[in-house]
Amino acid sequence: MPVTISNPTLVLNCGSSSIKYALISADNQVRITGLAENLGLDTAHIKHKGLDGNKQEINIAGGSHKLALQKILALLEQYQPIAVGHRVVHGGREFSEAVKVTPHVLEEVKRLKIIAPLHNPANALGIEAVNAIYPDLPQVVVFDTAFHQTMPAKAYRYAIPKALYDEERIRRYGFHGTSHAYISSRADTLSTAEGKHGWLTAHLGNGCSAAAIYDGKSLDTSMGITPLEGLMMGTRSGDVDPGLHIHLKRTLGMSLEEIDTMLNKQSGLLGVSGLSNDMRTVEQAANEGNEDAKLALEMFCYRAGKYLASLSCALPKLTGIIFSGGIGENSAVIRDNILQVMRHFDIRVDTAKNNELYAGNEGSFHHPDSKLELWVIPTDEEYRIAQETREALGL
Ligand code: AMP
Repeated sequence: MPVTISNPTLVLNCGSSSIKYALISADNQVRITGLAENLGLDTAHIKHKGLDGNKQEINIAGGSHKLALQKILALLEQYQPIAVGHRVVHGGREFSEAVKVTPHVLEEVKRLKIIAPLHNPANALGIEAVNAIYPDLPQVVVFDTAFHQTMPAKAYRYAIPKALYDEERIRRYGFHGTSHAYISSRADTLSTAEGKHGWLTAHLGNGCSAAAIYDGKSLDTSMGITPLEGLMMGTRSGDVDPGLHIHLKRTLGMSLEEIDTMLNKQSGLLGVSGLSNDMRTVEQAANEGNEDAKLALEMFCYRAGKYLASLSCALPKLTGIIFSGGIGENSAVIRDNILQVMRHFDIRVDTAKNNELYAGNEGSFHHPDSKLELWVIPTDEEYRIAQETREALGL
């Protein structure tokens, strides 16, 4: 008998040279996943993990987004997805929730290339490719920025001339919205604290951001008009003095493009350690006594703790702190070091519990005497996107 998945939603995350996909059953109990990589190159291929966990690799040498999607949809056809949800990085200020794709929505996704040049065009390609193959399959876009549209003006405006906001939409948007939304709503379910909850959420992966969330609404976040603002990340610098750009231009003759590349691709853990953007490599080197790696770790934790502390100002009430992302979900040492930076918050860590939280485990690790709750919640952006897709379509 063929295996079926009840009313599955296909979640697509189209990057500039990759497509991550997941077919998720309505009850989130069954999932088929895969990744198309190196699109456009001779090495283009799809890594597919079937229902039974069996893995296969499909060569699509030179394949474009369209070809990859044709293959992916063919692999999934027998399970009859009822809708497609696309992760779209930038929704500008028009979109505060997931919306069904219409010609207008697609035009907007493309137009927002001005502020997300690497991501939005790839997202638009994915929508068009699905449309070309299955014109009747409903598609929804779920924006990384949408969850943060509840931020008040005092949090989202930059202190620069008003006309730049009015005419050019220059403001803070925030990213990783589906992750912050998922982990905070999960903590709302798990916590036994009474009344409305106020959370500081730390999504610490290769990209890192923090947010202040009260009663399910984002009130402030660390990323800005682009995902460069805020915390120190794998290869991104996070906050620098905005005067750095002109200084580097004057002293070293660097162009804006060179400075942009340096801040996005050569900075963060990689730039400071001189070794890697991968936290595991940096942690290991630090343990072996490498001074640059030790400083990279210290800076990472200091800046994360400092940001979380400052974001607490956005919350009417602080219930606790939630860690997520590859680093936040796996490294007890980093979590502990970040919390030590926040030493005036009356936080007490249960060390044994903290050490047990890794590799997808979900749970709390605060000591009963702690003023704040502490949680590790593995993020599940795919599930959240599937959920929002169904809601947007009224399914
Ligand atoms: P993500 O972008 O969420 O996949 O997270 C990637 C980051 O998580 C990389 O910096 C990894 O080194 C880091 N990471 C994954 N596992 C661990 C671990 N066990 N300890 C520390 N960092 C980890």
